[in-house]
Amino acid sequence: MLKRFKADLHIHSCLSPCSDWAMSPKKIVQQSLEVGLDLIAICDHNSAENAGATMREGNRQGMQVLPGMEICSKEEVHILALFDELAPALEMQAYVYANLPGENKTEVFGFQVIANEQDEVMGENPRLLIGATRLGLHDIVKKTHALSGINISCHVDRPAYGIINQLGFIPENLNLDGLEVSYRIKLAEAAQAIPGIENFSCVTASDAHYLNDIGKAWTVFQMAQPSIAEIRLALAGKDGRRILV
Ligand SMILES: [Zn+2]
Ligand SMILES: [Zn+2]
Repeated sequence: MLKRFKADLHIHSCLSPCSDWAMSPKKIVQQSLEVGLDLIAICDHNSAENAGATMREGNRQGMQVLPGMEICSKEEVHILALFDELAPALEMQAYVYANLPGENKTEVFGFQVIANEQDEVMGENPRLLIGATRLGLHDIVKKTHALSGINISCHVDRPAYGIINQLGFIPENLNLDGLEVSYRIKLAEAAQAIPGIENFSCVTASDAHYLNDIGKAWTVFQMAQPSIAEIRLALAGKDGRRILV
């Protein structure tokens, strides 16, 4: 049976240097439940180190949490990689880390806090998570798909790190699973508002860096369960699965 899932698939945690300290795994799950979401994904910049704790906390509190990350390609395009399980997300993270130069400067970019589900600080990530990787978009998509994940190109309406502004177009052979428009544009109006996206499935998400922004934008998926396989079907509009706007 198909059900409706209200999803916010782009939420940062305190691991992202530009994110608020209050974005701990526990508080993210609490806030997501409070605003009535059924499904969330944790997508920090170039890292999934807080995904596991948020998944465990989601499990405890009854919120489906998917592990993911917002990867910055060498073209300086932000792209989400989303997975069902932690293991492939961490394998993707290892691939990203091997291609991510630089060290974080906390005084310039901010703290990168690794937290557990009890809201305890486990450490800080020393890498330059806000930086661009040496990975091309095609490499990222190929690796994500090999790990059974999906890719959604982020905030395509935005000048900063959006694929249309960075490349001028969306490469047809890139095999993206979908596009994300920011909260600034209504999903129903996206295809009219942004030339070049007509042939893609679009979602919207909060891209929250602060607790109060969680659920600021969301997408309703009609599907059987909150899994990557079902989201993939909904993005493709197959078997009755679809995106409701
Ligand atoms: Zn971004
Ligand atoms: Zn983001």
